[in-house]
Amino acid sequence: MDTIVAVSTPPGRSAIAVVRLSGPQSLAILRVLVQEEQFAPEPNRVTLKKLLAESSPDLIDEALVTYFQSPHSFTGEDMVEISCHGSPVILRQLIDLIQCQEARLAEPGEFTLRACRNGKMNLSQAEAIRDLINAQTQAAAAQAKRQLRGELSEALQPSKQELIRVIVTLESAVEFVEDDLPAVQVKEMSKVLGRVTSHLARLAETYQAGRLLREGLRVTIVGRPNVGKSSLFNKLVRTERAIVTDIAGTTRDSLTEATSLQGIPVSLTDTAGFREAGDKIEAIGIERTRRAMADADLLIVVVDGSCSLQDEDVEVLKEAREHSFIIAISKGDLPRVLTLDGQLNGTEVVHVSAMTGEGVPDLTAAILKPFGSDSGSVDLLITDSRHYDLLTRARSNLERASRSMAQSAGEEIVLADLHNALKLLGAITGETTSEDILSEIFATFCIGK
Ligand code: GDP
Repeated sequence: MDTIVAVSTPPGRSAIAVVRLSGPQSLAILRVLVQEEQFAPEPNRVTLKKLLAESSPDLIDEALVTYFQSPHSFTGEDMVEISCHGSPVILRQLIDLIQCQEARLAEPGEFTLRACRNGKMNLSQAEAIRDLINAQTQAAAAQAKRQLRGELSEALQPSKQELIRVIVTLESAVEFVEDDLPAVQVKEMSKVLGRVTSHLARLAETYQAGRLLREGLRVTIVGRPNVGKSSLFNKLVRTERAIVTDIAGTTRDSLTEATSLQGIPVSLTDTAGFREAGDKIEAIGIERTRRAMADADLLIVVVDGSCSLQDEDVEVLKEAREHSFIIAISKGDLPRVLTLDGQLNGTEVVHVSAMTGEGVPDLTAAILKPFGSDSGSVDLLITDSRHYDLLTRARSNLERASRSMAQSAGEEIVLADLHNALKLLGAITGETTSEDILSEIFATFCIGK
């Protein structure tokens, strides 16, 4: 195994930068840098040392150096970390010097790849490190940390063990039993397969929320003019971003603001009110509203609770039925006049007042419902399309195996699908992932990680 080097901190000037080495030559290279052949640093201890170039008497920098002895390091190999001043000139000089020794520049994610290869973590944990670094919100970081703690591998473990049990039974039937397996045993195996399949299906279903957590939830507020859309928009983004007046048609264009609700990224759009367009500008605004509706993951249809339902409200509700939507009955601080009989059909309804803030937490909870955050905490979600794809494929293999078993197809046919399913689940944690795919995954990491 060769020795790799990278600057692990972002490019540019900074107070401190970290250079990382991993591989068998790490300590030897450090000895060259400090110009002490016998330098024997105590592992995991930070030492202040002068870094020198052989060819020149000038000091490169004075830096804190740490040696991590294999296998007790991030990669499991011998490692050295150098914390020096964050000057691009110093870093260039240092990296050039190290490259002149027996080290080469690391590929993106190569430190983590080595950690995986040396059994320090599994693939889904390595991916979690990348996701943690890339997380834009607290909720995304929290999911990445759960995956990093191994929760995804743990969630899969019982299913894998049950599958192995079924495989072993079937394999031994092929090997040793002349007659068919007893019906009671087949029934038991079908039950186990059914259980595993639905567990995987449940996990795969969380991807819809997981994807939104990663990419952000697009929420669009719609309704006829003057129902309180802009006031609600301002309340949710927690600034006076949209102009609020009692003049119908004030919001003539859509307005989008990025916000986060309970740490989940939300892109919120306020739209021009739905009504017969009075002029050309308004007509364009309403066309944009339709587009914003089409792009949204969720619509909030606002209806004014202080007056009766108008034809324009009915029109909006009709258009909203094409999408996923919730209803916000606004102006809850005023006497309630509105009745919505016959309009609901099981749609979630929330009563709010932008004026007093009453009901806004309920509205937030309704928006975040797909995240399973009723209790305020988000469930373990599948956030990676690679994991989702593998889960879905494993599930269809299992479904096919169950069908074959029900039709009393040969054990070999059932076994082929079960082995495939197990292999696909193994690929989530990297046990059965090919080298090509590994390189592809690690290419999405940053250099020095
Ligand atoms: P939009 O046209 O649907 O965006 O509605 P706006 O947010 O501009 O509000 C229209 C009018 O309703 C304004 O005069 C607001 O002050 C008033 N309004 C909005 N929300 C509330 C509320 O919760 N309570 C009361 N009493 N008035 C509100």
